[in-house]
Amino acid sequence: CASVRDKPILRGLDLTVRSGEVHAIMGPNGAGKSTLSHVLMGKAGYEITAGSVTLDGVDLLALAPHERAHAGLFLAMQYPTEVPGVSIEELLTEALVASGKGATGVRSRLEVEAARIEFDTRFLDRALNVDFSGGEKKRNETLQLAVLAPKFAILDELDSGLDVDALRLCSRRVEAATQETGLGVIAITHYKRLLDELRPDYVHVLAKGVIQATGGPELAEELERTGYAQ
Ligand code: ADP
Ligand code: MG
Repeated sequence: CASVRDKPILRGLDLTVRSGEVHAIMGPNGAGKSTLSHVLMGKAGYEITAGSVTLDGVDLLALAPHERAHAGLFLAMQYPTEVPGVSIEELLTEALVASGKGATGVRSRLEVEAARIEFDTRFLDRALNVDFSGGEKKRNETLQLAVLAPKFAILDELDSGLDVDALRLCSRRVEAATQETGLGVIAITHYKRLLDELRPDYVHVLAKGVIQATGGPELAEELERTGYAQ
């Protein structure tokens, strides 16, 4: 359960995501989807009013956001932050060093991963997200996910801004991580299209801060036909 400015947003949300699993979360605007992603990652401004969050037994709520990242959690943001003066190579070098993984060969890892999602290497030297198009920001988030290789990733509308081809490449890259490194995924999305390549094990409908229904991929197709009202 979580509130913003004393307003309850998440009203009792129970979710278990195992390694290698993909859980899609769909739901109307204002349902609390981004709130869930922010609460899990530790963004300031939210009050956890009840409940707990653990990652492989570690109490995430006791940790600062960077410590949650070190514990293996990654958030691809709905609205990625622009950071003037810092390139993605600098960011990931610092992140890898801080996590203890080491940053040897980070440039070549970046180039390999950029090629996998057809992201032009000139973006590697530009200031992080500054003057990037919506789709370029989302490719940048995917690149960070690929290089940091977290245990669990939350994708908050990774599809927004991506053109059809880029969406296929990015969702395919995340799907590959579920198989290659056992990445567990919470994929927040409005569109079934993301789930064509990133195949969900479960689809949940979040509305009014509660998971109202859970099913398989067929639930996403049904929602696309009928909408949320039903
Ligand atoms: P979703 O991502 O499902 O569209 P959000 O989690 O972003 O929804 O928002 C859920 C609800 O919480 C919305 O009604 C939104 O206006 C409200 N909310 C989120 N953050 C704040 C905030 N900082 N102050 C006031 N209301 C907020
Ligand atoms: Mg949102």
